[in-house]
Amino acid sequence: MGYFRKNIEKVKGYEPGFQPKDTDVVKLNTNESPYPPSPAVLKVLTEISPEKLRRYPDPIGNEFRRAAAEINNVCPENIMCCNGGDDLLTMAFRAFCDKNRPVAYPVPTYSLYPVLAKLQNCNTIEVPFDDEFNLPAKLAGTNAALTIVCNPNAPSGSFISIDELASLADELSGVLLIDEAYVDFAEANCTDLVKEFDNVIILRSLSKGYGLAGIRFGYAIAQSDLIAGLMKVKDSYNVDAVAAAVATAAIKDQKYFTETTEKVKKARGLLSEQLRDLGFEVPKSCANFVLARCKNRKADVIFDKLVERRIYVRYFNLPGLDDKLRITVGTDEQNNKLISDLKEILSQDTAPSA
Ligand SMILES: *Cc1c(COP(=O)(O)O)cnc(C)c1O
Repeated sequence: MGYFRKNIEKVKGYEPGFQPKDTDVVKLNTNESPYPPSPAVLKVLTEISPEKLRRYPDPIGNEFRRAAAEINNVCPENIMCCNGGDDLLTMAFRAFCDKNRPVAYPVPTYSLYPVLAKLQNCNTIEVPFDDEFNLPAKLAGTNAALTIVCNPNAPSGSFISIDELASLADELSGVLLIDEAYVDFAEANCTDLVKEFDNVIILRSLSKGYGLAGIRFGYAIAQSDLIAGLMKVKDSYNVDAVAAAVATAAIKDQKYFTETTEKVKKARGLLSEQLRDLGFEVPKSCANFVLARCKNRKADVIFDKLVERRIYVRYFNLPGLDDKLRITVGTDEQNNKLISDLKEILSQDTAPSA
């Protein structure tokens, strides 16, 4: 065709996890919350007025900024609303990266980062994690304009300590974006680093812990100068009135949030144990999924057999991941169904993999 910029022609685009149309399947493949959003959300939705829809929304979502600031113990000037956490990633690439300003991140990690790099035509410096997913020392010395650390990391569920990320922020000459999309299921977060470092941006999402993947809402936490700069590259009305109202109601209901995320954390422990009993190697996860290594069966074969039983998990045909399945923590009922079907699959298939 030749109409597109060369880097756009070449890029394959992000491949989202499969979204089955049927609702009667066991869907453990895209890390959504197994629980519905807070009842406060549904109340707000029914109360949306036609007038609210007729008018443009608040371009910077001040009501949400105030609510999120209070919960995170920062000021509203430290918060920027985004059309999903992914919107913040797009903005960060636009704001900090180009042909001469590369991005760096440890791998394996969220597969959207390299796609956004290609769209922005910037180089990627991919620094491999070791087998235990420790922060690679080399990451501090890349001279990248933007360094991204996903914490807890996807798809490993591993967690890097706040002290280590503080040291990294201190050493870097560029921006450190800490992708905390899964931090709602961890025991600590990096919000306090924002007070100390003028180069740290925290990404938060309402898709996972708040059960709101369908409305697209996330936010950034950073010092006000960084927020003001990021605001320059955002779409004029990047969060719509309905999403902002829903997200505000959800984040204000911290009681419901804590209840549901605690349930997921508890189920994660049980699911990990049950998978280990079945012979999987399951490292500790701080997210709402586990990464299970299939020790004597092929992961893609198990994946296919689960699909036949209408159970969807995630398989990545990538080096270091192709012997593993990433499994979202579901409801107790879903997790039990997965475990009992895995038991059957493993007892039928006796042929060990190569
Ligand atoms: C889910 C996710 C996000 C943000 O997702 P949104 O749905 O756009 O809020 C960001 N990073 C990682 C690693 C994620 O898994």
